[in-house]
Amino acid sequence: MAAQPVTVLITGANRGLGLEMVKQMVEGKCPVKKLFACCRDPNGPKAEALQALAKKHPNVHIIRLDVADLGSIKQCSQQVGAQVGTGGLNLLINNAAYLDKSTLQETTAEGMQTTLNTNLMGPMYMTQEFLPHLRAAVKASKIPGMSTRKAAVVNITSFLGSMQLVKDTFSIFTYIPYRIICAAEELKKDEILFSLLHPGWVRTDMGGEEGEIDAPESVTGMLSVMESLTEKQNAAFLDYKGKTLPW
Ligand code: NDP
Repeated sequence: MAAQPVTVLITGANRGLGLEMVKQMVEGKCPVKKLFACCRDPNGPKAEALQALAKKHPNVHIIRLDVADLGSIKQCSQQVGAQVGTGGLNLLINNAAYLDKSTLQETTAEGMQTTLNTNLMGPMYMTQEFLPHLRAAVKASKIPGMSTRKAAVVNITSFLGSMQLVKDTFSIFTYIPYRIICAAEELKKDEILFSLLHPGWVRTDMGGEEGEIDAPESVTGMLSVMESLTEKQNAAFLDYKGKTLPW
């Protein structure tokens, strides 16, 4: 990326696309200054690759975060606040997600609850709790307009949530989707950009081996799209190539 935000936070950063984002954001030509790589179990076996990255790159700060737990989100926000101070947080990437492979018939209250807590309440509480740091970034920034270098929330979502595409996508993916975008209007008045990104069908644990692309291609595309975002794309639903997707 040519121009990077100074401070970035990524949820679900220990594997899959989150881990690849950390990698590309710190190993690129213009690495971010401070990257908060958040995951549920920083000392567990699933965070070994992230720990190795953090050892190599002192600008990667691993923070414990369970996005389905408001207490954990609040704690994380305090830790980040203490580190960024009045400079604030430029870019919050809500990437962590849970996939419950259930059809409507199979869905249980427990599965639905975990899905909603992780995929819906998680990004919502993250946005709420990190708002002071995003506002601080707007205040500290001299950059006009809206951008990910100034202050932004990017939600990694899925084109499976598109109602216009549901006829084509439902037969190949019968699991229950969701989407969140309503926060965009409210954040606009603070000049905080809010957009949704579909990473493509990617060969990660979630995407499976039959996915169409690998994580590096997806993340290279997404980071380049993030770099190009301005107020024109506020509340936009884009894919990793920057193509606008229908709702
Ligand atoms: P993976 O299943 O590979 O990784 C999911 C990540 O989310 C893991 O780091 C996992 O952590 C984390 N996570 C799950 N629950 C929580 C929680 N409660 N708190 C914190 N972290 C949590 O998924 P991908 O990397 O493939 O997906 C990344 C994003 O891209 C998701 O938002 C997904 O919906 C989206 N996406 C992916 C597609 C694909 O083809 N791969 C297609 C469309 C959208 P842990 O190791 O602790 O479980």
